[in-house]
Amino acid sequence: MFKTKHIVKLVLVTIVAALFLAGCGKDKASTGSSKDVLAKIKEDKKIVFGVKYDTRLFGLKNPKTGEVEGFDIDLSKALAEEMFGKDVKPEYVEVTSKTRVGLLNNGKVDAVVATMTITDERKKEVDFTDVYFDAGQSLLVKKGSKIQGLQDLKKGTTVLAVKGSTSAINIREKAPETTVLEYENYAEAFTALKAGKGDALTTDDSILYGMVEEDPSFQLVGGTFTEEPYGIAVKKGNQELVDALNKALKSLKDSGKYDEIKNKWIKN
Ligand code: GLU
Repeated sequence: MFKTKHIVKLVLVTIVAALFLAGCGKDKASTGSSKDVLAKIKEDKKIVFGVKYDTRLFGLKNPKTGEVEGFDIDLSKALAEEMFGKDVKPEYVEVTSKTRVGLLNNGKVDAVVATMTITDERKKEVDFTDVYFDAGQSLLVKKGSKIQGLQDLKKGTTVLAVKGSTSAINIREKAPETTVLEYENYAEAFTALKAGKGDALTTDDSILYGMVEEDPSFQLVGGTFTEEPYGIAVKKGNQELVDALNKALKSLKDSGKYDEIKNKWIKN
């Protein structure tokens, strides 16, 4: 009797110990491999930035050259050089407002520089750097439109927005009676506006200015009605990478390089 009890006890202790050790091992593996993005960047000698391909002024693929161009591209290039010199090559992968968090979290991109507003909700899923640009949500309409601001977005009006954007959420709160149609990206949303599928398109003023540049028969109306501070997003738990990006951002601001890049793209 005593013997059996003793054996059962021994087996239980062994099981508990084995489970404990397995748990430790798992933790170590995930910190070492998938979590440390900065170490991976240095090892691979490349940093993959998630950027927009459809947003004039910030990240737009030029069909003639095949290159992506804009403020987010030039800034990320300068940040990479500031952090790693010529040792690490910047590469670009397309993200949309809807896909960017997923692509960060599955490791397809190392950092998202894509007109992304820092919000408390998003902070639950990713980590952000300091603010690198201040925008605000506004409305774009055809010149001569009866819609001149939020107050005109009544029942029977339709506003176009993009999936996964703060704009799509905010507009429902600010103009609860209007119908909101959501598109995959800004190119599609603007094409829909031009085709008369809605009375207005809503997103950050900074993005809408790019649309006016493309087609001056449209204009911004009603000023801005939210604050949209842009941050660079990285996978949660990569504080070292956030610190390195913040340090590089500060250096670019101090040296005047940040202003140079900003002035090249942002005129308003
Ligand atoms: N800044 C806003 C956001 O992060 C709108 C622009 C965008 O969709 O990227 O959602």
